[in-house]
Amino acid sequence: MKLKKALLVFCMIVFILSCATNPFTGKKTMALVPNSQLFPTAFAQYNQFLTENKVVTGTKDAKMITRVGQRIAVAAERWLNANGHHGYLNDYKWEYNLVNDETVNAWCMPGGKIVFYTGILPIANGETGVAAIMGHEVAHALANHGQQRMSAAYVQQGLAVAGNVAIKDEKSRNAFNQYYGIGSQVGVMLPFSRSHETEADKIGLYLMAIAGYNPDEASELWKRMKANSGGKAPPEILSTHPSNDSRIANLKALASTAKAEAKKFGVTSFR
Ligand SMILES: [Zn+2]
Repeated sequence: MKLKKALLVFCMIVFILSCATNPFTGKKTMALVPNSQLFPTAFAQYNQFLTENKVVTGTKDAKMITRVGQRIAVAAERWLNANGHHGYLNDYKWEYNLVNDETVNAWCMPGGKIVFYTGILPIANGETGVAAIMGHEVAHALANHGQQRMSAAYVQQGLAVAGNVAIKDEKSRNAFNQYYGIGSQVGVMLPFSRSHETEADKIGLYLMAIAGYNPDEASELWKRMKANSGGKAPPEILSTHPSNDSRIANLKALASTAKAEAKKFGVTSFR
């Protein structure tokens, strides 16, 4: 009993020490794996992924992915600076790559490392749809959603020691991949929680609107995702991002708020 209590107190201390504030929600979130460890791991995993997959360069689509990514990154920086979070993106090393793969998926790893699969482009149906996906995935990274899930898993497994978790061994690296979207490599990619999805939807809408993309397109995109889910190869992104009517309705309802947010940055017309 005594040991249990001591453990509980220890866990609470670890939790409090390792909390980080999410600049988008103001909420304290658990971050047992610090960015100083997470980012180098992410960058290494990302580079490895690129060497093992067919990266598309120089095409119209590849240039479009880069263009949208850069605009979303600028929007994120403007939003963060305007809200008093200067320097939040200092350690980010943005990179946008299109990979030739029929999988319907896209992801953003910690530190701004983004991959789009060519398989998602028909559903994106143009640059504004790409911006909706990009905004959403970048939002997960900015809000440290993967980091929170990973930290929670470490606590559950009793792996959290002294408030710091090292990503050294194979097991930790696999866990990293599971929580950060390189699903096809390890077979399983865990879904985000409902609240994280709603949070990323909202932040994503703001980012796309500030970047000058019409936020009305986001609900249309998820309608297309939903329509596509019945095919012989359901989109992989849907295994981690369940699309349903309440999500689509929520995105539709929030679009005007996103436009109002963009107006604060002088953005009043959308492509
Ligand atoms: Zn999501």
